[in-house]
Formats: sequence, C-alpha cells, structure tokens
Amino acid sequence: MTDYNWCHNPDCHKIETQSRVRGSGDNKVLRTVKIKSYSPDSIWTYFCNNNCLHQFLNKFPREIANIRPVNKPSETPIKVEKTKSQDYRMRYNGADYERVPYTSTRTTISRVDND
Ligand SMILES: [Zn+2]
Repeated sequence: MTDYNWCHNPDCHKIETQSRVRGSGDNKVLRTVKIKSYSPDSIWTYFCNNNCLHQFLNKFPREIANIRPVNKPSETPIKVEKTKSQDYRMRYNGADYERVPYTSTRTTISRVDND
C-alpha cells in the first residue's frame, strides 16, 4: 500500500504555483500535488488544499450528492428552554457611565435522547 495519494482535483496540475513545477530545462511541467496520507478518514489525504477541494466539489456536485441522497429532511428531537435573568448594561449619561438593569432571555437547546 502506498503512503501517499495524488490530489484528487482533476485540475490540480493546471494551478500555477512553484510547488507544482517539475522537470528541468525545456521539459518543465506543472504536476498534480503528491499528498502524504496520514489518515484515510481525513479529507486532506485526498486534496492538497481548500482550493483543490472546492474545485472538485464544484466540478462534481451531482455525483457527490448521489453518494448519499437526501430525499427528506432529518430531525433531531430537542428541548428548548428559555430562562430569564436580571442583567445590566452600561449607559453614558453625558458625564459618567451608569448601570441600567434589563431582563435578558437565554435560549438553551438540549437534545432529547430517545434511546
Ligand atoms: Zn491539488
């Protein structure tokens, strides 16, 4: 098994950077970037950078969507809790800052486990 991949962006070798230049004299080329693979679970094992990843995504949007089609929305059961608390903001009255009380509302979303 190889410990490297070639960047999967089909146009990686068309991007003009010094790091892609290979060859000598009049036989120079821009070559696809070679990537050392650290983890097969990392997207960066297959793409040399964000630019190449997004060029790939924009070139194959339908193919990517068809890897795992989504035909209906998914839902996660949650509990929404609103808690009110007394708080203060500072207001400048022309000469000094003064504490002005107000009631703040915090919304907390927590998951409901249905195991
Ligand atoms: Zn690349």
